Amino acid sequence: MTQPVKWPDGARCAIMMTFDLDGESPWIHRDPALAERPLHMSMGAYGPKTGMPRILELLDRYGIKTCFFIPGWIVERYPALCEDIVRRGHEVGHHGYLHEKPFFMKDREEEEELLVKSLEIFEKILGAKPLGARAPSADPSRHTMDLLKKHGFVYHSNALDTDLPYCHETPHGPLVEFPTAWCNNDAPFFLFSSVPPVGNGIWSQEDVWEIWSEEFEGMYAEGGFFNWLGHPQVVGRPSRMRMVERLIQRIVGKKDVWWPRPVDLARFWLTQHPSGAAP
Ligand SMILES: [Zn+2]
Repeated sequence: MTQPVKWPDGARCAIMMTFDLDGESPWIHRDPALAERPLHMSMGAYGPKTGMPRILELLDRYGIKTCFFIPGWIVERYPALCEDIVRRGHEVGHHGYLHEKPFFMKDREEEEELLVKSLEIFEKILGAKPLGARAPSADPSRHTMDLLKKHGFVYHSNALDTDLPYCHETPHGPLVEFPTAWCNNDAPFFLFSSVPPVGNGIWSQEDVWEIWSEEFEGMYAEGGFFNWLGHPQVVGRPSRMRMVERLIQRIVGKKDVWWPRPVDLARFWLTQHPSGAAP
């Protein structure tokens, strides 16, 4: 099969493995009363408190710089952790203020107000400007892409329609899309709560290894783009992290993969497709 994209240095496949650092925010957004329930707050807090040190150490060990998509509320709640993410050379990306889904907002003004509010928090607490965004619960609105481009974003990552990146054409110019897939996301397999019932049970990491490693191998064989995403409160368990490390070893063992920060991948894509046209 002809390789569909020419990645830098003759690489066969580009890699993106990012994390949504949700913490307690999805529970509170789901029902503000849950902010008073220790069960739910502790489930969310596992990500920032316990999963994150494991994840940051793993990424450092393999020299991987990536993006953490973080709700503004989490930046306010865990400033030292977020500063540490930036200090280690990772990007911080937009992920709502309190995990609000743009699709359900009443209008463009409400969505822009929350976007600006979060950007101000990143600037004030971290001195950082997010250049990438992922809509909470993968649910952007018809205004999302244009608002992101208007506010200086380079890329977004939620769509499910292609394997390769492409550009959204917005009135403010092209915005790179890094498409994802439910099967390359930890939540459908491992996110679980008995109160309230959430999730699809707790899967064996070996079954999920089979899916993720074969998704990578397939993308590598085609010469494409592998985009995986995890949530520290879900994938940060020891059994899952051991499997993720095996996945990282499988990927870096190929030698001819390109694994830049997502923003560098997006900028490369724009140089290759300045009009936003698909390859
Ligand atoms: Zn999220």
